[in-house]
Parts: sequence; C-alpha cells; structure tokens
Amino acid sequence: MTVVVLLGAPGAGKGTQAPILAACLKVPILASGELLRSVVASGSELGRQVQATMLSGELVDDDTIVRTFLDRLRGPDASKGAILDGFPRTRGQAVALDDALAEHSARVDRAILIHVPLDELVTRMAGRLICQASGHVYNLQSNPPQQPDRCDIDGSPLVHRADDGEVTVRARMAQQMPPLEEVVEYYRSRGVLATIDGRLPIPEVTTQLLNAVDVPAESRQPG
Ligand code: AMP
Repeated sequence: MTVVVLLGAPGAGKGTQAPILAACLKVPILASGELLRSVVASGSELGRQVQATMLSGELVDDDTIVRTFLDRLRGPDASKGAILDGFPRTRGQAVALDDALAEHSARVDRAILIHVPLDELVTRMAGRLICQASGHVYNLQSNPPQQPDRCDIDGSPLVHRADDGEVTVRARMAQQMPPLEEVVEYYRSRGVLATIDGRLPIPEVTTQLLNAVDVPAESRQPG
C-alpha cells in the first residue's frame, strides 16, 4: 500500500499535481474537499452543517471529517494506496490517519508540502476555476483552459468555487494555516516530509514531486 499525503495551503497546486502523481502510482486521489462537497450535495442535515462551515472558511470538525474520510479510504479502489489531498489538515486528523493505516500494517510513505507565500495564494485563488463534472483545476493566469468556460479534459462548464472569493480565501488562510503547520511538523518529525517550492513552473513542481516519491523514469507520463 502506497500512501502519499499532499500538503499545502488552499491554492498551492495540490489539485493540479495530484492527478499526475495518481496516474504514475496507479492509485486514486482522495480529496477531502471533493468528499465534503458531495456530502453537501446529498442535501442531508449533515450536508447543511458542512456547507455552512465550508462557506465560513473554517475547518469541518475532526470527528466528521475523520469518519467521512477514513470510510472513503477503506473503499476497494484504495486497497493499493491513495494520494491524499486536503487530509489530514490538523494534528488530530494525522494521528487518526496513522492509527487507521497501522491496522493494515501501512503508514504514510511520504508527505509532500507544496509551499507558496500567502499573497501569491490570494491572487491565484481569485483566478481559479474548477470543472463542474470532476473538479479539474485551471487558473486564468498560470494554467488557463483552451476555451474560457469549458474543461479541456471533459468539456464540462468551468465555475468559480463558492469559497474562492477574496474574503473567504483570507478567512480560510487565517483559520487553516496554523493547523497545517502542525501537520507539517508532525510529518517532519517522522522523517517523511519533503518540501517543494510551489512558485516554480507547474512541470518543475511535477518533476520534484515525482522525485520525492521515487517514481521511476519509465513510469512518468511524457510532457
Ligand atoms: P479544499 O477543497 O481542500 O480547499 O476544502 C474546502 C473546504 O472543505 C475547506 O475550506 C474546509 O472547510 C473543508 N475541509 C476540507 N478538508 C478538510 C479537512 N481535512 N478537515 C477539515 N475541513 C476540511
């Protein structure tokens, strides 16, 4: 089982890099934000509570996200491992993840921090678009789609996320950076952390990411 945790502030580029890494390692991406958005879309009472939390820029409580995420991690498609995008985001979540993996004699093999300074993050997120069908990520400045309002990959409409407005973005950063730093320290102390400068061009970030998880040259996609 290969488990790779992608760490970084919202907008650091995790969602852009995760599909490339997943294709190389042949494991699924489990993205906590996507998972929570599907809980919201279910229209349940829990979904309504989660939606309110997400729109406020705060983190969903550990109990809810740990239960939801670990259920997903036990899915048959993740039996050989997964790329974790957006989870864990607190030290408590990181400990819960280690406990769950230890039951299968597994562990987090690598935690990779994609680091981008705050001001650049706010600018990036103002220009971020995601596709409605699968959450493919674009950026009007750094990674524009071929057509302004359609996904290059599946042709579905591109939309701004409801929580990508500047006020919510700044609130998300203020709330989410301190616990993220705890998670970074947690993995550093376990000797599995690698840090990448997320301001590098996207292909360079990809190369460093694949190096960090020792993907052999023959398993890398051209381009
Ligand atoms: P993301 O798509 O990863 O930026 O997540 C969107 C929102 O979902 C975040 O701003 C949080 O409100 C919530 N969320 C996502 N992952 C987590 C997590 N691991 N723990 C708590 N809340 C989360």
